[in-house]
Amino acid sequence: MVQAEAVIDLDAIRANTAYLAERAAAHSAATMAVVKADGYGHGALPSARAALAGGATWLGVSTVAEALELRSAGIDAPMLSWLNAPGTAFTPAITAGVDLGVPSMRVLDEVIAAAKAADRTARVHLKIDTGLGRSGATPADWPDLVTAAAKATAEGTVEVIGVWSHFACADTPGHPSIAAQLAAFSEALAVAERHGVKPQVRHLANSPATLTLPQAYYDLVRPGVSVYGLSPIPDCAAAEALRPAMTLRGRVLVAKRVPAGHGVSYGHTYHTSAPTTLAVVPLGYADGIPRHASSVAPLLLGGARRTIAGRVCMDQFVVDVGDDPVADGDEAILFGPGDHGEPTADEWAEAAGTINYEIVTRIGARVPRTYV
Ligand code: PLP
Repeated sequence: MVQAEAVIDLDAIRANTAYLAERAAAHSAATMAVVKADGYGHGALPSARAALAGGATWLGVSTVAEALELRSAGIDAPMLSWLNAPGTAFTPAITAGVDLGVPSMRVLDEVIAAAKAADRTARVHLKIDTGLGRSGATPADWPDLVTAAAKATAEGTVEVIGVWSHFACADTPGHPSIAAQLAAFSEALAVAERHGVKPQVRHLANSPATLTLPQAYYDLVRPGVSVYGLSPIPDCAAAEALRPAMTLRGRVLVAKRVPAGHGVSYGHTYHTSAPTTLAVVPLGYADGIPRHASSVAPLLLGGARRTIAGRVCMDQFVVDVGDDPVADGDEAILFGPGDHGEPTADEWAEAAGTINYEIVTRIGARVPRTYV
């Protein structure tokens, strides 16, 4: 092991995807594995390959740059890039056969212009805001967007591959907005059809919906965090089959004896209560370790669960291991699947006041990923 690393279990990603894809296939839906943000911190390219091996037939990313990186690495699966501001250079994406999410008339106009410039037909997925209040056309603007897309289709500049939307509260099963969004989506599809737009795929379901809401599957599900083995819903029975793919570990930089009453780390928010051993772990907030984890987040070190002592620094944090025989170079496991006594990303999220998504996604580029 190097001084710190994120070990990524690609077989877990493959198996998680297979599990999700099976659920989708039981309702005749395909699976788009979401590999944006460097595969939620797991590495976009290896994660994409593992997810495709597990039965995903689509990939989802945020930006055109993310899509083109996968295309240049030889990934030729259908791929949707959905978060592109006006002014994005769409032509390379159209040339590379990357599908583009279209949330507004402005983006549609730019995609049409880029398709004309490339002398190609752009593959687009029109986005309706069914209630998230984020990107996507409002129901009021939707008829104009689908009308313009139908016109561009007739002119051969655009092919409407998809109509899609995104949930606000699918991680709270039974939340009234879920039924409202399903109804709004169904209405948007009817409006699209009335204006001559017939998408090949309709899609709405993120991980929580893929785990709990088959009526939201339509033709394609778009799970992200669950592909990496994390549950978006606490105590979700359908998520029990998932296996967390990331283990974060580091080597003790130095373990040293200090007297009672010794202040530890910036601000001396922790003092030793007796003569003890302090172990320094070389991971800090520059590596994505939340500063809110100071004094609260757990880890496994020297065969026992410990808590970070004092403040997380930019590149390191300290653990008080008492009189236990922890030595320089010993392994500290911050989080992993949890089956060897190590904490999970869920426990870290709880301790740091955030969500498991953020714990894994923020692990920085300085931490090497090791694939097993
Ligand atoms: N679809 C869209 C548009 C998203 O932005 C995301 C992630 O934020 C996903 C799907 C996947 O969501 P999750 O990670 O909750 O499965």
